[in-house]
Amino acid sequence: MNKRDYYDVLGVSKNASLAEIKKAYRKMAIKYHPDKNPDNKEAEEKFKEAAEAYEVLGNEEKRARYDRFGHEGVRGAASNGFSGGGMSMDDIFEHFGDIFGGHFGFGSGGFGGSGFGSSSGRRRVNKGSNLRVRVKLTLSEMAHGVEKKIKIKKYVPCSACGGTGAAKGSKATTCPTCHGSGHVTRITNTFLGQMQTSSTCPQCGGEGSIITDKCRVCHGDGIVRAEEVITVKIPAGVNEGMQLSMGGKGNAAARGGIPGDLIVLIEEKAHPYLKRDGNNLLYDLYVSFPDAALGTTVEIPTVDGKVRVKLPAGTQGGKVMRLKGKGLPDVNGYGKGDILVNVNIWTPKSLSHDEKALLEKLRKSGNFKPNPTSKDRSYFDRMREFFT
Ligand SMILES: [Zn+2]
Ligand SMILES: [Zn+2]
Repeated sequence: MNKRDYYDVLGVSKNASLAEIKKAYRKMAIKYHPDKNPDNKEAEEKFKEAAEAYEVLGNEEKRARYDRFGHEGVRGAASNGFSGGGMSMDDIFEHFGDIFGGHFGFGSGGFGGSGFGSSSGRRRVNKGSNLRVRVKLTLSEMAHGVEKKIKIKKYVPCSACGGTGAAKGSKATTCPTCHGSGHVTRITNTFLGQMQTSSTCPQCGGEGSIITDKCRVCHGDGIVRAEEVITVKIPAGVNEGMQLSMGGKGNAAARGGIPGDLIVLIEEKAHPYLKRDGNNLLYDLYVSFPDAALGTTVEIPTVDGKVRVKLPAGTQGGKVMRLKGKGLPDVNGYGKGDILVNVNIWTPKSLSHDEKALLEKLRKSGNFKPNPTSKDRSYFDRMREFFT
């Protein structure tokens, strides 16, 4: 379906000011308002089309994107999911606040029957806030996964009242002001006739019920601060900076609402010798010149203790040995990384008289003259391989 240009929809010019756009939309909204056009499909479409146009043109950032890229530029970017094929009536009324001031609602008559979702009767549901905790893990814990018990301070449902906020033996009662709907409606006279607007009920704050006899413990909130121990299952292969979200484990919501989430942020406890590079681990090995020349067995730390590795005779400094599968597992289960051992030859910083004499002798030996072949690739060659 070809969408009409948003400026055409609202009948404004491309350089219209925000005030002009607002005014144009307000006019359209009143003209095609479903209450004034019951059972009129065409008016409903026009009403929706205008709302969609305003959703974009009424927002500086979205308007700029629309001006540059057209409808493609704002597809799916609109807050209420245009991509699903236009805005729902509920979405539209949600946004009436900034146009008409206050929540724009409808009488119980006209709307419900005409196939639209009615905005009245929508009561406010409390939502608990999310909690964030940091968890420091060793490389070994990251490699194998771990179960951590975390003590956190948070809001929990009040046990004295069962989270209702009402004192023992009493109950919340339907709000006498809004009769449980959470909204109060007001009739205003406009030049186009009577209009009903509704706003959040001031007595119950939109919840639809009130507590006359408040719980002594939580003072009617239904929640109290408490310390809770939460078991967090951390899978193998997590990384520093990863976040695990545990739905419903955050702060409890007032009076039986929806609890928030607990977000666990993973941090890495530095290992004394191993550095992490993705799923690989890097280790700097230092060997003496005699060991490198004669060959030896070295110990390499891994996340599960040390392993012994043979260092062949004639090992050059700068050689990288790869210990396959000794790195960290992939968090999605795609195999394991390696340990990369970078061999450094340790040059003594001070020498005794005897050592000096010995080395002077060796200096003259032909075998000690550097004579690299193509097999002894240079540091720069290896770096190139590493980074391409
Ligand atoms: Zn209570
Ligand atoms: Zn109320």
